[in-house]
Amino acid sequence: MRLPSVVALALLAAAPPLGAAVNVVATTEDLADLARQVGGDRVKVEAIARGYQDPHFVEAKPSFILKLAKADLLVAVGRELEVGWLPPLVQQSRNAKIQPGADGYLDASLTVKILEIPTGQITRAMGDVHPLGNPHYWLDPGNGRHIAKAIADRLARMAPADAVYFASRYADFDRRLAEAEKRWDALMAPYKGLKVVTYHRSWPNFVGRFGLDVIGYVEPRPGIPPSPRHTLDLIAEMKRQAVKILIVEPYFDLKTPNSIARETGARVLVLPPSVGGEKDITDFIALFDHDVDLLVRTIRETGAR
Ligand SMILES: [Zn+2]
Repeated sequence: MRLPSVVALALLAAAPPLGAAVNVVATTEDLADLARQVGGDRVKVEAIARGYQDPHFVEAKPSFILKLAKADLLVAVGRELEVGWLPPLVQQSRNAKIQPGADGYLDASLTVKILEIPTGQITRAMGDVHPLGNPHYWLDPGNGRHIAKAIADRLARMAPADAVYFASRYADFDRRLAEAEKRWDALMAPYKGLKVVTYHRSWPNFVGRFGLDVIGYVEPRPGIPPSPRHTLDLIAEMKRQAVKILIVEPYFDLKTPNSIARETGARVLVLPPSVGGEKDITDFIALFDHDVDLLVRTIRETGAR
């Protein structure tokens, strides 16, 4: 049976031209989603780290090398977030297109203002996993806009025939993000100055954007597990400042947070910092929808303000 010609034409129009899609590999699901937002059907995007994993510590698998070997563009968080696992994978992919410095390597951290850049000498030997400043910068929605723009521009350079398409996809994302930001800002507005504690230093961009105040961390330094001495000091400070909310990333053990909560009366709030961290967090905008909603509900329930 032959398809009616109108249907056949519609199918042809919907399909991207064969072989035209740019193969993108992103190190995290956040960056992968931003690439999909601007790349649409002219890109094929795969992520390496899953959103429920600690992005500092990802187990390198041979399948990642195969993904990288086929990539035209690699988008990385940078600031040494992936230094423990990405460089050997990129090297073993033997793909010249995506080596650092090549056109197919995009360090997304170069598109945003990085917070917490150390002033003194910090080396990884000290165990601090943020030696080049805070790498969790995608947690300010405004930074998502800068990253999306950088990806759209890079894609346009790699596939000039689709430059208008990428620009219009970016404009659409920018518009939807701006609408969502109004929603989040309105929800968070009553809680400016609210004091919280977080497990890891994942949230400086998030709290900066929404005006919260982080007064301490469960980790003594980023990447260093809690010590009894540090935990006691933190408990005392949380009692003194009447902190009611302790934010924990989903991949940390809850033993110390739970004991801090028992001592202080604070609530442990498991808050995913990435796309894919929960089933309903399917894209970059959904990440903030989820986190802002959960945070506001917890603030109201605990009477933190
Ligand atoms: Zn970190």
